Amino acid sequence: MPAETRPPGVATVDPGSVLLPGHDVPLGRYTTVRRLLPQRTRRLVGAWCFVDHFGPDDVARRPGMEVPPHPHTGLQTVTWLLDGEILHRDSLGNEQPIRPGQLNVMTSGHGIAHSERSPAEHPPLMHGVQLWVALPDQARAGAADFAHHAELPRWRDGELDVTLLVGELAGERSPARVHTPLLGAQLELAGPAAAGLPLRRDFEYALLALDGVGEVDDLPLTPGALLWLGSGRDTLRLRGEPGSRLMLLGGTPFEEPLVMWWNFVGRDHEEIVAAREDWMAGRRFGVVADDPDPPLPAPALPTVRLKARDRSGGFHV
Ligand code: MN
Repeated sequence: MPAETRPPGVATVDPGSVLLPGHDVPLGRYTTVRRLLPQRTRRLVGAWCFVDHFGPDDVARRPGMEVPPHPHTGLQTVTWLLDGEILHRDSLGNEQPIRPGQLNVMTSGHGIAHSERSPAEHPPLMHGVQLWVALPDQARAGAADFAHHAELPRWRDGELDVTLLVGELAGERSPARVHTPLLGAQLELAGPAAAGLPLRRDFEYALLALDGVGEVDDLPLTPGALLWLGSGRDTLRLRGEPGSRLMLLGGTPFEEPLVMWWNFVGRDHEEIVAAREDWMAGRRFGVVADDPDPPLPAPALPTVRLKARDRSGGFHV
């Protein structure tokens, strides 16, 4: 990226690594999240197309997360908690609590609806991430699905405690089903020394700090920013404060231009309009049973046509 087009406030360490600050976005009635992806010039990391980091929030005397039924299409949602508890309900009839160390993967296919709430009796802290994965063209018309993974591969590598959420790393494989070559892993520093993790040169990667401070390429990384690492690396050398937890995301570059609007990932304006109309008419997405609130209405569409963007933010005509 030429220096003159770089957004203000964005630090560059080497041609491959760029620190991209996130921004705060309200989610539901009571939660504010740090949105780290999409960014203006980096829309995706592999097929990861959306990264929200929330908390740690004190929800001891507050409702916590309250996200009423809403639809999705064209994506998978991946939910991971460090603290707290969230109850997932969906239009397939699943009702599943998720707790720290567990993974929820919901595949929308052509359409699904779900709600996410802190239970009435919940732990005092809430802290986690919700990520979206864009489905490739051949998978996005498929059936909706929901999977809860209570057990994930975990191991100690030197001074790094690794939990593998998605994909393969160091000979281990996650049970989560995805549709493009993808990686998601939590890395917890057990000591301050540099740790080396094997990477794939054909993957692009990014790191976010969930808590504490990590350091890559002499660049400190704290919660609230995304460190874009690019591709062509075969090792990740990570340092940081002991106890710090970071999330490593990666995948092969996702080349299909996307239209992302509200909770929908599509390919063109007409598809998004059709998804919105189906949701407002009560078609396609089904009903989330037993949720205490009515479904969320979709916002109004912009008055201009939605355009597909490629992975670096350019419009695709
Ligand atoms: Mn959702």
